[in-house]
Amino acid sequence: MAVDTAVSPQVQPYAFASLGSTLQVHAAATPPSSAAAWSPLHSETLYRVDRWGPPYFAVNSAGDISVRPFGDDTLPHQEIDLLKVVKKASSLGLQLPLVVRFPDVLRNRLESIQSAFDSAIESRGYGAHFQGVYPVKSNQDRFVVEDIVEFGSGFRFGLESGSKPELLLAMSCLCSGSPDALLICNGFKDAEYVSLALVAKKLQFNSVIVLEEEDELDVVIDAGRKLGIRPVIGLRAKLRTKHAGHFGSTSGEKGKFGLTTAQILRVVKKLGQFEMLDCLQLLHFHVGSQIPSTSLLADGIVEAAQIYCELFRHGAAMQFIDVGGGLGIDYDGSRSGDSDMSVSYSLHEYASTVVKTVAFVCDRNSVKHPMICSESGRAIVSHHSVLVFEAVSESFNGDDKQKRTDSPCVERLSDDARAAYNSLYAAAMRNERERCVFLTDELKGRCVEQFKEGNLEMEELAAVDGFCDFIENAVGVSDEIMAYHVNLSVFTSIPDFWGIGQLFPIIPIHRLDEKPELRGFLSDLTCDSDGKIDKFIGSEASLPLHKLVEDTGGGGAAAYYLGMFLGGAYEEALGGIHNLFGRPSVARVVAQSSGGFVVKSAVAGASCGEVLRAMGHRPETVLETLRRRVEEFVGDGGAAGTVMEGFSSCLGNMPYLARAAAMKGGGGDGDEAEE
Ligand SMILES: *Cc1c(COP(=O)(O)O)cnc(C)c1O
Repeated sequence: MAVDTAVSPQVQPYAFASLGSTLQVHAAATPPSSAAAWSPLHSETLYRVDRWGPPYFAVNSAGDISVRPFGDDTLPHQEIDLLKVVKKASSLGLQLPLVVRFPDVLRNRLESIQSAFDSAIESRGYGAHFQGVYPVKSNQDRFVVEDIVEFGSGFRFGLESGSKPELLLAMSCLCSGSPDALLICNGFKDAEYVSLALVAKKLQFNSVIVLEEEDELDVVIDAGRKLGIRPVIGLRAKLRTKHAGHFGSTSGEKGKFGLTTAQILRVVKKLGQFEMLDCLQLLHFHVGSQIPSTSLLADGIVEAAQIYCELFRHGAAMQFIDVGGGLGIDYDGSRSGDSDMSVSYSLHEYASTVVKTVAFVCDRNSVKHPMICSESGRAIVSHHSVLVFEAVSESFNGDDKQKRTDSPCVERLSDDARAAYNSLYAAAMRNERERCVFLTDELKGRCVEQFKEGNLEMEELAAVDGFCDFIENAVGVSDEIMAYHVNLSVFTSIPDFWGIGQLFPIIPIHRLDEKPELRGFLSDLTCDSDGKIDKFIGSEASLPLHKLVEDTGGGGAAAYYLGMFLGGAYEEALGGIHNLFGRPSVARVVAQSSGGFVVKSAVAGASCGEVLRAMGHRPETVLETLRRRVEEFVGDGGAAGTVMEGFSSCLGNMPYLARAAAMKGGGGDGDEAEE
């Protein structure tokens, strides 16, 4: 893209307009976009849906995201168009942002994990069964936990807790689970936690108290005696094997959790003294979340299985090896395992590594194969929900570069600024992009100095900015990254992006049959400079996005929906209420085997009143105090009534931006609607 200086050899040094036309000739010479040839398949590749989506997400021929609720077993007519779900939920009164849950996906995940282990066990001739538990910390939502217990009851699937409230909810949910399901009690424990776990045993739950610290043993022995309940005890081993990624920072010898070799030996000795060695039945370890490779997994398992065999040799009544969580998700679809965003193995490879390695070590030690337990959280719940939110406007970052401004009045510039201007002009004519970037910075800097000295007017400063933007666009150095303003709080809904830089696939859920002409980053609603998403899978600093279009019915931009995928684990409970943006609405969508879907429940997100209450304010008091103020300044007539109604309806609405049509209150509980 060379600027043809021959077009206007006599160009006036300060004539913005003539430079403009020169550069525009060249801009018009760029080939027309190939929008006409764009198909949904192009989008599938562009947004890597073909990499991270299978078997649950794809792009359909209408250019919308299609959800495949039964994974690989989904028949074409059973696919669910996500845009239709959003429209249905909106028609039920749900405001965005919206979490759409697909319990069928949850069931498919659970069954896939179970069958991966079943087939690994069968093909290896392993001598015991697999019996998983779901660590509720990954997502404690009532429906999620209840669904997992129900879907897993056919294969003794259990739960894992890491705190007292988690244990209480796990006990209550397991009342309708398999009687053989395990209830693994992890986490740091006080006497109350231990007593709850012991009482659980009395109530015929298969609770296992996993010692996280050596001191917990005394508490267990003591509480067990007082309550007259003999515990089943597990040990969490602190492995030497270290997982080097972010999620492995608690692993290795200096890790935060578990017992060292010396501590394990002391616990065994003490259990022997109290004639309780038969209580020790489980060995637990957790290398860390998002284990990157099967070689690291195998390393950890060899070490743990060897400890298991040693405990057996010391007379413990060992039955279970619990390999913890860490089964990873390939967020960026790269299958590389070279960052926290990706893992290099499949579910089957994971299961077969676990089974083979445990078998190998136990056979070597002539120890009976233990039952294998795993605590996969991320791998069970990540896929089951999609967060849908809207982009409400787009603009150039900080400035509206598309609007042409007047040419700067060069005579008014300081000597320094004028020199920079002349150099920039010359560089632009020679199409020296790098130099243009440098010189626009230089020119702007000089002019701001002059402005601060009081020697340049605001209009003149704006004209210089406009000129710089114009040059950058014309020579093609401007990155043209737009800011898309989204009706969302990153802190509430994607806290791990803010907290640890975790990336999730984020893409438009419709218009995928159109070529996205722009690139943008996402800027959220909060008044916080961290409230933005400017990193995307595939090491991108911006996302290809579509230009917002006018709503055909008038009244601003038509809805442009984006989805955040694979975020079903951890994001919900981690999210805060920064700026008092609270939890999003939730729709629970069940697929019909004959095709179509049913919205089983539609629950509006937290209202302004609820988020105020969470910070100790009392909405009733707020309203009452304001009523007195209104009476004082507006009186007590009809006008005052209108003001008060405004306050009270605001308290009932969600804090997010409301679309004009969707201003009315929430969807309530338990709605059921078919599509
Ligand atoms: C967090 C955690 C898990 C779940 O880990 P995932 O990586 O989500 O599978 C399992 N076990 C323990 C002890 C944990 O702390």
